[in-house]
Amino acid sequence: MADSVAKSGLRTRLLQGVAISAAFMLGAVTPHLAHAQRAVTEEQRRAIPDTSDDMRRVPIPPVDRSKEPIIVVTGGTLLDGRWGGAIPNAVVVLQGDRIVSAGPAGTRIPANVSRTIDASGMYIMPGLIDLHIHFTQQRGPDMGQYSDSPAAAAIRGTALAEQLITAGITAARDVGTMGDVALRIKEGVDRGIIRGPRVFWSGRIISSTSGHGDEVTSTATGRQKPNLGGESKGANGPWEWRKAVREQIRMLADWIKLGAPGTKEEIAAAIDEAHEAGVPVAIDSYGVYTDWAIEAGVDTLEHPLLISDKAVPLMKKHGTAFVPTIIAFDNLLQGGYPTAGIPSGNFYHTHSRRFVMDQKHHLKRVNEAYRAGVPIGVGTDIPFENEWRYPDAYFRELEYLREAGMSNADILASATSVGAKIMRIGDKLGTIEAGKIADILIIGGNPLDSLKNLRDVRYVIADGKVVVDGKSR
Ligand SMILES: [Zn+2]
Repeated sequence: MADSVAKSGLRTRLLQGVAISAAFMLGAVTPHLAHAQRAVTEEQRRAIPDTSDDMRRVPIPPVDRSKEPIIVVTGGTLLDGRWGGAIPNAVVVLQGDRIVSAGPAGTRIPANVSRTIDASGMYIMPGLIDLHIHFTQQRGPDMGQYSDSPAAAAIRGTALAEQLITAGITAARDVGTMGDVALRIKEGVDRGIIRGPRVFWSGRIISSTSGHGDEVTSTATGRQKPNLGGESKGANGPWEWRKAVREQIRMLADWIKLGAPGTKEEIAAAIDEAHEAGVPVAIDSYGVYTDWAIEAGVDTLEHPLLISDKAVPLMKKHGTAFVPTIIAFDNLLQGGYPTAGIPSGNFYHTHSRRFVMDQKHHLKRVNEAYRAGVPIGVGTDIPFENEWRYPDAYFRELEYLREAGMSNADILASATSVGAKIMRIGDKLGTIEAGKIADILIIGGNPLDSLKNLRDVRYVIADGKVVVDGKSR
């Protein structure tokens, strides 16, 4: 264990620090959790009574929910997100944005209930999580006629937020945005200005000059960006990568997103910098860069691109989670993205995708990771045609995980409790338990019998508010 902690990139000058010895002890118990918690020990964190409901865990004044409205859900079958068994005729009590209690019939129902939802014949489960979206992604058959800007991206993102939440996806991680688009959508949802999932965001993608995130051609279309992409935002050398991480944290990012390629030193420096600030890291990577990132302690690997035989054993060893986004590549291979003029078969004319997309290989790697016990998250990453590809893409991703050999129970865990843990927010999201955030999905059939039942959405409760209200078939 000490070996894996040392390899995960601790700065040697800090090894002498007193505070770090506690982080080492934490690392000895759960190395993957230690990554994102290094700056503040578990004990110190618990001592903060209330924090922001994101990875930044900023202390907030005590919240008094005693006067908030109480919603009770009765009669349905509760699947609490641990996927061990079902509780028929359950009672779930919510107050404000929190779950007060969840259990079998007879669970105490407080006085002053403001609303009772009769979920008889339905299934109550935690809201779904999408670990890989971009609110800036394109939509519309006429996209070629319009130039892009942060304002345009925010408008598109608002529409996507609505599509996600009405499908029962109550939390989403944006892994690369334009300016502060994803942050403002996060705030818009928090403030009740727009409807959408709880948003966690990672600022812009950090990469080297010319790397993924700093290319002058679009990764998906291969077309040149205006002005050859404008001024480079690439970072070069370990200290510039560290600085880029600090800049995203300064922008209030919940996560850091890196894009390969980069040198071994650059990738390790960025991951180390983020972890010291208690911020987890995702990487869009391929080939040897993936192995380097895993060895440096990256928290999630996005996509199964050109993964070596070493990668899955390394992920297992280092506690790395895997977000395959099979569907994004499947769309490409099964017809391309016609409205963007992208042919099927591969990504063309782009520097950071100089390899063949092979869906069989992708599924094989997901299967290997699953069998090895690597945590697998659900992410979609649909680059175009969002107006009709969402939310279908999410459910199709679940079907692909099944094709990769996962059981329904494990896929549902990936979409809920495992997803929340991967996101570093498993203490607040992902299961229906007292004290957790009230993000709840009520559907018409048992998802353990068929994942298709997830499409039969009856109610969505997000942050304690009823967003989808009793849709009948
Ligand atoms: Zn992406």
